[in-house]
Amino acid sequence: MVVQDLVPEEVRMRGPFSDKLGRRWTCPCGREHEISTRWADVDPAALERLPARLRGEGWRGKVLLVADEVTYEAAGREVSHILKGSGFGVKERVFPLPLKATEERASEVLREVGPEAGLVAAGSGTVNDLAKWAAGLAGKPYAAVPTAASMNGYTSPISALLVRGVKRTVPSPPPVGTSADPDVVASAPRKMAPAGYADLRSKVVADVDWWLVGWLFGEYYCPFPREAIGFWEGELNGRLSGVREGDPEAVGALLRALLDSGFGMAVAGTSSPASGGEHLISHWLDMRATLRGGEAALHGEQVGVGTLVASTLYGMWLESDPEDWKTTLGTPSSEELCRRYGPWAGEVETELRRKALSPEMARDLIRKLREGWEEVREEVVVRWVPPEVLKEELRKVGAPTRPEELGVPWDVFREALLYSREIRGRWTVLDTAYLVGILPDRAEEALERAFGGGPAAASSGGPGSYRGAFRGRRGRPFPARRGGGWWGG
Ligand SMILES: [Zn+2]
Ligand SMILES: [Zn+2]
Repeated sequence: MVVQDLVPEEVRMRGPFSDKLGRRWTCPCGREHEISTRWADVDPAALERLPARLRGEGWRGKVLLVADEVTYEAAGREVSHILKGSGFGVKERVFPLPLKATEERASEVLREVGPEAGLVAAGSGTVNDLAKWAAGLAGKPYAAVPTAASMNGYTSPISALLVRGVKRTVPSPPPVGTSADPDVVASAPRKMAPAGYADLRSKVVADVDWWLVGWLFGEYYCPFPREAIGFWEGELNGRLSGVREGDPEAVGALLRALLDSGFGMAVAGTSSPASGGEHLISHWLDMRATLRGGEAALHGEQVGVGTLVASTLYGMWLESDPEDWKTTLGTPSSEELCRRYGPWAGEVETELRRKALSPEMARDLIRKLREGWEEVREEVVVRWVPPEVLKEELRKVGAPTRPEELGVPWDVFREALLYSREIRGRWTVLDTAYLVGILPDRAEEALERAFGGGPAAASSGGPGSYRGAFRGRRGRPFPARRGGGWWGG
């Protein structure tokens, strides 16, 4: 292919997907996989090469460039200049900040789409989601110009939007290619790459969730995405301080790993290999922030902290005695959901109903797990990374390792742990923890084990600052609250 030939051998992306871009292959899992994205160019000359690559895709005439005011300065202006210099017309849609990936903003992008050959998203998660969603609906191709190694969504076949206040992932065609200058990516705000690393590491628990769903419910599972992430574990291990310090080489390697993680979702045809219970915790915190009009922490930062507690739940499950399993999996009433989610209770209830189990079904699942425990235990152990190991990595990379570092009080995080399973129909470790009775009763223990001591031990919180509220709700599932919405309304 002509465009491939424009890229010198030494700068082509190394990694598990290097030889799979734009190709179809038969996987040992038995399925044919296809990656439609044709390039993942992370290189100082990547932006210069973009016009030739787009031409190789048949793009002619005009493109619609989407950015926000910061990412426009970081890369958008340069991309626009390069495209114009090589004969493309460029229409720009530059969003002012603050910007959220909502259905409304995405519709604004969609309305901008005219006779352009395609869209170019110069930005990180939010800009990428908006452009990907709009391009998908408009039936136009899009190319991604990542400006931060902050998450893995660039190359995924989905876009994540807030739809009526609830985080929803919508299928959207992945980009035709991604072009990133490591110097640009490394100069993103300092906490973005650590957040990206945390998002990457969440895959080790998301993969266990996905594997278990396959085992429990006979759903499809492919080991390739986890193997790809395993490759990057090795590559990134010696680069953690480089990621923290914004070293272009280290951050560039992280971005390549994140792009591969997105390809893993394309392989799976679902976000399952990249999004389990730890992501529900993050989505729940996002929803809470939206409903309260507050600011959530970065996606990856929340996901990293969620990963520590998800990994802890797996650890608690692994050391449990199957004879002690007794399900606490119940379905909260509509009133409870109304109290918790206010105007979004209906959305939540629909999701929750998708995985509701009758008491008989729960008993059957427990029986199945008991009978297969030897195999299940072994498979989970192989995939699982203990929370201590993950926490040490997050520390080295400079990502948050405690709820308080996200600006989330301990007792609110405990609620995220208890309730975030409700907001999505996907089965995750949070459901498993209820199925075998670890949650809600041992929620405090899980938090203490994940974060090394209760709120009193937090460096950022005052001594015992959250203790009263935290202890006051000990062990009470779905606490009935009087008056006011759960969201403070
Ligand atoms: Zn496969
Ligand atoms: Zn993520």
